[in-house]
Amino acid sequence: MAKMRAVQVTRPNGPFELVEREIPEAGPGTVRIKVQACGVCHSDSLTKEGTLPLVTYPRVPGHEVVGVVDAVGSGVSRWTPGQRVGVGWNGGYCGYCDYCRRGDFFACQTFTAITGITYDGGYAEYMVARSEALALVPSELSSTEAAPLMCAGVTTYNSLRNSGARPGELVAVHGLGGLGHLGVQYAARAGYRTVAIARGKEKEALALELGARQYIDSLVQDPAAVLRNLGGAKVILATLTSGDAMAAVVGGLAPNGILMVIGAAPSLTVSPGQMIAGKLAVKGWYSGTSIDSQDTLAFSVMAGVRSMNEVFPLERAAEAYERMMSGKVRFRAVLDVSR
Ligand SMILES: [Zn+2]
Ligand SMILES: [Zn+2]
Repeated sequence: MAKMRAVQVTRPNGPFELVEREIPEAGPGTVRIKVQACGVCHSDSLTKEGTLPLVTYPRVPGHEVVGVVDAVGSGVSRWTPGQRVGVGWNGGYCGYCDYCRRGDFFACQTFTAITGITYDGGYAEYMVARSEALALVPSELSSTEAAPLMCAGVTTYNSLRNSGARPGELVAVHGLGGLGHLGVQYAARAGYRTVAIARGKEKEALALELGARQYIDSLVQDPAAVLRNLGGAKVILATLTSGDAMAAVVGGLAPNGILMVIGAAPSLTVSPGQMIAGKLAVKGWYSGTSIDSQDTLAFSVMAGVRSMNEVFPLERAAEAYERMMSGKVRFRAVLDVSR
C-alpha cells in the first residue's frame, strides 16, 4: 500500500504525532482528495483536547481543507479527478431525514459528519470526504488563500448574510482576530455601515484598512455607549470567546437588534429586562454547508476579501496550533501540505 504523511492525535490532550499511514480509499459516495492546504482552527482543540464526546481516536484534525480530487468512489456523479475542492466543518448529511428535507442539512438526524472530528480531516496528504461536503474552489484563489474561508470565512460571511441586516444598516464586528478580520471585510463589502470593536489603539489602522468606517477601542471607550450614540447596531457579530465581553456590548444594539454569536464562549449571561425592553435577540449561527462555502469563496473573489495567513508546512502543525491557541497568530494559521 502507498503511504502518506499525516498528523494525528491518539488520545485526549495527547500530542500531535507526524506519522506514516496508508493512503485511504474512496468508498461509495465519497471522493479522495490530495490535500494542498488546511487551515488551523480554534475548533481543532475539540479533537486535540477531546472535549467533544463524538471524537474517536486516533484522529487526524483539520476542517479547512483545500485539495484536488484524485479518486472518486462509486455512486458519485458530480465530481471528477482534477477538480479543486474544499471541505469545511460540515462533513455531509443524508438528504432524506425530516430536518434535511426541511433544508436544515446542518442538523441532519441520520448521522453527524464533522470533518476532523468524526472522520479524518486535512492535517494529512490525503483525505476522504463525502461528495455532498465538497465546495468547488475558484481558480482566482490559491489553496492557502481558500483554506481559512472553509470555516472562518463561511462562518462570518454566512452569519452576516442571514442576520437580517440590510445594506446601509449599522453592523458591528466585535473582535479583530481570525474571525473578526474576515467579518469586517465581509460586512464592509456587503454594504453595511461597518464598525469594528477590539482592544487597543494599535488595531485601529488595520480595522479601517479592512473596510470599517469606524473603530471602537474597548480599552478606553464603552462600546455599547458609542454604538448607541451612532443610533444602535442592527447586528453585532460576536467573534470572541469571552461571554463577559459579549454581554458588555448588548446595550449597543438598536431596537430589534441581534447579537449574532459565532465565537464559542463557554457561557453568556444577558439581562432579560434588557432583551424585553429592546426586543433584542441573541442568535447562534452554524457555519454552513458546502454550498454556503462555495458562495463564500465566490463572494471573496468578487469582492476582494482575503484571509491574512501565517503559513506552516505540515510537519510544523503543532507549532501552528500553539500559535493559534495562544492568540499570537496573525490572523489565521494555514498548513501548506503541498510543501
Ligand atoms: Zn473551524
Ligand atoms: Zn439528514
